Amino acid sequence: MVGPAGVLGGKNSTIGGVLHPWPVPPVAKVEPITTARALRGPFDYLRPDGVGVGAVLVVPFGGRDVVGVVVGVAEHSDVADDRLAAPRRVLDHDLPPDLVALAGWMAAEYCSTPARALALVSPAPHARAKLAWWASATGADPGGRAPTEAQRALLDGLPRAAGGDLPALRRLEARGLVALERRPVRRHVSHEAVGARRVQPPPLTADQARVLADVEAQLARPAPEPLLLHGVTGSGKTEIYLRAAQTALAAGRGVIVLVPEIGLTPQIVSRFADRFGDTIAVLHSKLSPGERHDEWTRLRSGAARVCIGPRSAVFAPIERLGLIVLDEEHDSSYKHEGDPRYDARHVAARRAGQAGALLLAGSATPRPESVRALRRVRLPARVDGRPLPPVAIVDMREQAGALHPDTSHALVDAGKAIVLLNRRGWSNFVDCRSCGHAWMCPQCDVALVLHRAQHTLACHHCGHRERVPERCVKCGSMSVARHGAGTERLEHDLAAIGHEVFRLDADVADAGAVLRRFEAAPGGILLGTQMVAKGHDFPDVTLGVVVDADGTLRFPDFRAEERTFALVAQLAGRAGRGPAGGRVLVQTLSPDAPSIAAAARHDADGFLRGELARREALRYPPFSHLIRIVCSAPQGAAVADAARALRAALGTVADAQVLGPAPLFRLRGRERAQLVIKAGDRAAAVAAAGAAVAAVAGERARRGVAFSVDVDPQ
Ligand code: ADP
Ligand code: ZN
Ligand code: ZN
Repeated sequence: MVGPAGVLGGKNSTIGGVLHPWPVPPVAKVEPITTARALRGPFDYLRPDGVGVGAVLVVPFGGRDVVGVVVGVAEHSDVADDRLAAPRRVLDHDLPPDLVALAGWMAAEYCSTPARALALVSPAPHARAKLAWWASATGADPGGRAPTEAQRALLDGLPRAAGGDLPALRRLEARGLVALERRPVRRHVSHEAVGARRVQPPPLTADQARVLADVEAQLARPAPEPLLLHGVTGSGKTEIYLRAAQTALAAGRGVIVLVPEIGLTPQIVSRFADRFGDTIAVLHSKLSPGERHDEWTRLRSGAARVCIGPRSAVFAPIERLGLIVLDEEHDSSYKHEGDPRYDARHVAARRAGQAGALLLAGSATPRPESVRALRRVRLPARVDGRPLPPVAIVDMREQAGALHPDTSHALVDAGKAIVLLNRRGWSNFVDCRSCGHAWMCPQCDVALVLHRAQHTLACHHCGHRERVPERCVKCGSMSVARHGAGTERLEHDLAAIGHEVFRLDADVADAGAVLRRFEAAPGGILLGTQMVAKGHDFPDVTLGVVVDADGTLRFPDFRAEERTFALVAQLAGRAGRGPAGGRVLVQTLSPDAPSIAAAARHDADGFLRGELARREALRYPPFSHLIRIVCSAPQGAAVADAARALRAALGTVADAQVLGPAPLFRLRGRERAQLVIKAGDRAAAVAAAGAAVAAVAGERARRGVAFSVDVDPQ
């Protein structure tokens, strides 16, 4: 920082709108928002007046104009004064400085670049405010010619947006009676209303009151201790979030509410909208750039103080942040699959710590990591006092077909049911009955899935599609076999039982519409992938079915048990929420798997105990940190070579174990190999991974090889 006024001379200056009683440095350190990995910014520019950390500029860079963010200001530059370039212009949306700091941390934490991290926290740079004509009465004397009755009515209604009356208002403007100006108008984002509307907060249950007292005690502290709200499905966690938000707002603090996928959880958005009205803003990927701009600006200006959205809402430009809610904290959508591969849960914890805000994570099936890291507060029972529905395990080892006869009978009797099958399409595998030729994706080493309604075979990894074959390409046989059932096939079978079927999977364009139709229907089956097990609250569902609980369990992944437990427990939470009660059937080939057995007993604690012990023995998170490095290229030899070089460059990482290289299946036409680091010291391992990738990627032999580093892979 520079000295006080007088020492250096000069007049007062402003940074980020704050008046400083001393001159501010003349150099702005700017990070251009580009995706180039090799760039080593920031770069120095002349600092325009009023520009401080967080300002968004257009700067000349490498012969073109790029958007950049000011990450620092300095007294001196290594660039000669007369060679220091001036920015072209200052854009009108600036980032809060704490988000610039967060981006810097994220770049290092996830082995990425500051530019890529800044791109994530920045608003869409080219969206603008929408302008429309705004009319107000001037109050001038109409003189000799009195306005007509219609004109009188028009004048009385002012000020307002001109809209369709612009021509009539123009005539009044010509007479000096009306002033017209262009004003920004807000593009209204509508919140779908799903579920019962309740504006009056209900009186809390004793359990809720106890938990809320704990939450509020933390909110009152300057450095709150993060909390994990472990409450069974239907225990009223959302009401705790709402009350906590209210308390934070009353103290003049802002709130971020992170939800898994907004299209699938419109209920929580409408509950917040009902309670807080226009104080909330939503940020999600379905918004148009203009809507996003407006919501972002409302948050930045403080017009909105609560932001609800999926993982990227963790970057909402809210000042004086007091609370971050992480709803359904176990959900895998919190992990971002682009670069930086951030985990919104980890970023939320960092941001909360930075802002002195309370992190309140909630789930019925919390992750072992969170259970170990956070203090737990519990809601042990459903609000309505009803027990959780009984869960029966249905052994499928002797069964042919997708549904056990018991399941079929239960479905016939059920009024409303939810059926989960974690596989899209008709059948998951197609081959020739004569020669055994299997249809595989030409880009990836995976089987193609039949989508009968579209007459295509599709790859679920790269999106490749081809027409359903009429005969075998290899032997010409007309006899093609389809194996396994997906949601499309099951939809067909269930409709045959005579039920109306509402299918919900990634092939459905408007998930919200499907949920609304299911809610309004007197009966029927909501059938789909894990999307059907998200936090929906349909009181008249009496039956839940997991068709193939082994689907997630078979994944070669240390999280397989955790995912399976969560899926079964979450689905169970959707059934029996009303007076008619309910039950759940779980079809499986592994009835003794600990995750399935524990979920059937509603035994989250038992599951967590066993799972934590297993992870500790195998040294998996939370007892280590994982870093996954994937090398990929069109040629297998180049990949194997690069992976070996990377292994050598890593050498021995202190307090860590390096696994691999191991080949992965070909994806999108690229061969792949991976290394996994299991580390005790996270920062040291991240630094080692970053250095090794930088060294190997820079070698001449690595042309065409791509490297991706994933810290805390899902
Ligand atoms: P969770 O998020 O824990 O699954 P919800 O917050 O969805 O549970 O609550 C389940 C239902 O109970 C909702 O319909 C909610 O409006 C209602 N509810 C929550 N708290 C209360 C309360 N104190 N009294 C009455 N109903 C409540
Ligand atoms: Zn054949
Ligand atoms: Zn493919």
